[in-house]
Amino acid sequence: MAAQVSVAEIAQSIAKHLRLLSGQGIAGFDCSQETRTLLKQGFHQKGSGPKAIGAGLEAEALSCTDCPLHKERIKGVFGQGDPEAALMLAGIAPGMEESKAGLPFQGEVGGLLDNILKAMGMTRDDVYLCNLVKCPVPDGELPDPMCLRACSRFFRKQVEAVRPQVICAFGQITAEAILKQDLPYSRVRGQLQPYLGMRVMPTFHPRELLTAPQKKRAVWHDMQAIMRAIGKPLS
Ligand code: SF4
Repeated sequence: MAAQVSVAEIAQSIAKHLRLLSGQGIAGFDCSQETRTLLKQGFHQKGSGPKAIGAGLEAEALSCTDCPLHKERIKGVFGQGDPEAALMLAGIAPGMEESKAGLPFQGEVGGLLDNILKAMGMTRDDVYLCNLVKCPVPDGELPDPMCLRACSRFFRKQVEAVRPQVICAFGQITAEAILKQDLPYSRVRGQLQPYLGMRVMPTFHPRELLTAPQKKRAVWHDMQAIMRAIGKPLS
């Protein structure tokens, strides 16, 4: 007769598993209806990622007029990099420099980001870069919540297509918009958060590092945690 497993043994086993996950930076589970639906649809199976981003979606974003930000647009800023990357890095919105180039993270902020990637042993070609909002806001300003909502469908489809292991969310507003909750930021920054079967790492925006270079150490700590999460060796 098969040995009976007691409730206490099952509880011990679950507790052990949860401690293991906690040690890997997993703070909880996303059991929302949206996640369960995506899981049923095979959201996590590799296969049609790059095709799903598609030129059609990008063209739609670049000619979109769903919110007033399109009036500031020189070029829309959709995204850049590897559509099958294990790591997506997302900011809140492009500025005018990005809109001139049509590419995310330009100028001094972009140079700082490139240095961070270099320290991680990567370049822009190894990751996927984008912003939640695709049209520019004046430098130093944040997009209106209405614009964030109007633009969220593009970011959502990018995430569904790329299906990265980790999304690095630059800045508190970005992390809150992705995770759809007000965060106790000082506690969640640097802690991987569950998100639709992937994980989100809230960290400081490279723009913040220009005025507060003392935050660089914390960002590097967060990047090392990301490297561990995506299985990239620390050199
Ligand atoms: S910011 Fe987004 S929603 Fe607003 S016009 Fe540009 S693409 Fe459309």
